[in-house]
Amino acid sequence: MFDTVEAFYRPGTVRETLRLLQNGKKRARVVAGGTDLVVEADQSIRFLIDITHAGLSYIRRKGKACVIGATTTMAALENSPAIRALASGILARAAATCGSIQIRNMATVGGNLANGSPAADTATPLLALDAEVVLADARGRRKIPLAAFYSGARKTARGSALIVEISIPALPRGGRWSFQKLGRTEGDISLVNAAAGLQLDSQGRVKWARIALGAVAPTPIRAAGAEELLVGRKVDQITLAEVCDEAVRAVRPISDVRASAEYRREMCRVLVKRALEECAGGTGCSL
Ligand SMILES: Cc1cc2nc3c(=O)[nH]c(=O)nc-3n(C[C@H](O)[C@H](O)[C@H](O)COP(=O)(O)OP(=O)(O)OC[C@H]3O[C@@H](n4cnc5c(N)ncnc54)[C@H](O)[C@@H]3O)c2cc1C
Repeated sequence: MFDTVEAFYRPGTVRETLRLLQNGKKRARVVAGGTDLVVEADQSIRFLIDITHAGLSYIRRKGKACVIGATTTMAALENSPAIRALASGILARAAATCGSIQIRNMATVGGNLANGSPAADTATPLLALDAEVVLADARGRRKIPLAAFYSGARKTARGSALIVEISIPALPRGGRWSFQKLGRTEGDISLVNAAAGLQLDSQGRVKWARIALGAVAPTPIRAAGAEELLVGRKVDQITLAEVCDEAVRAVRPISDVRASAEYRREMCRVLVKRALEECAGGTGCSL
C-alpha cells in the first residue's frame, strides 16, 4: 500500500513538522489516524510525517473560545465532558457516529476536515458552531472560518498547510442544538447529516439560527436562506415546512452507490425538520 514510502518521521513539535513538510515538498504527506490515508493509497507519497506526537491532542478553553487540537481523536471528542457539554453535545454526538470504535480511536478531527469530504461528520456541527480552522505553514499561522475552508469537491483552502487546531467561538446564550445523521448502518458514512442551532426569545420566536448540511453538495454547507426564513418566527409546522423546502433548494446531492440524489433530497428535508423540532423542543440531543 505504501511501498513507495522512503521515510517515516514522527516529529515532536509543530515547528519540526512544518520543516519536514517544507523539505519534503509535494512528496511529503501528513498522517494522523491514517484511516483515510490508507484507503487513498497515494503512490506519489515518499515521506510520511506522523503528527500524533506533535502536541496537537487537546481540548481547552482560550478566552471564551473552545479550541480543539487537530490530532484529537473522535473517541476523545465523544468522551470529553467539555465537548459533551458544549451546544447540547452535537460535536460529541457527531464524533460518536464516525465508524466503529476502532476507527474512532484512530481518526482525528483534523483529518476529518483536511480531506475535504462533503460527508465528514464533524464538519456539519462545526459549521453550525461557526468554527474556525487554524492553519500553519512556513509563513506563519492564519485562522479562517470553516465555511471558507471548503472550496469545492474534496478541495480546501488548506493548500499544503497543516491544520493546527479548530476554534469554536462563544455561543449564543440559551442556544438549543441538534445533530442528525442518516447512514446505511450505524457507524457508516453519512448519506445525509444535519446540524442545527436556535436561539429563541421569550415569546418563542427565533432570534438566531444555524442549519448545516453534509453529504448533499460538493462540500458541507450552511443553508443560509433557510436560516434567514426562521428568524423572527415561531417554529410551528407552517414555518418548518417552508424552512425545509428552502433547505432542500440549497442542496445539490449526487447519486452514488449509497443513495440516489432524490432520496438524499428527501432525507435532507426529514433531517432538517427533526433537527429543528429537537431544537425548538429544547430537549437537546441525547448522547
Ligand atoms: C471503515 C471506515 C469508516 C469511516 N466512517 C466514517 C464516518 O462514519 N464518518 C466520517 O466522517 N468519516 C468516516 N471515515 C473516514 C475517516 O475515518 C475520517 O475522515 C477521519 O476523521 C480521518 O482522520 P485521520 O486522522 O484518520 O486522517 P488521515 O487518514 O491521517 O489523513 C487524512 C488526510 O488528511 C491529511 N491530514 C490529516 N491531518 C491533518 C492535519 N492536521 N493538517 C493537514 N492535513 C492533515 C492527511 O495528509 C490526509 O491527506 C471512515 C473511515 C473508515 C476507514
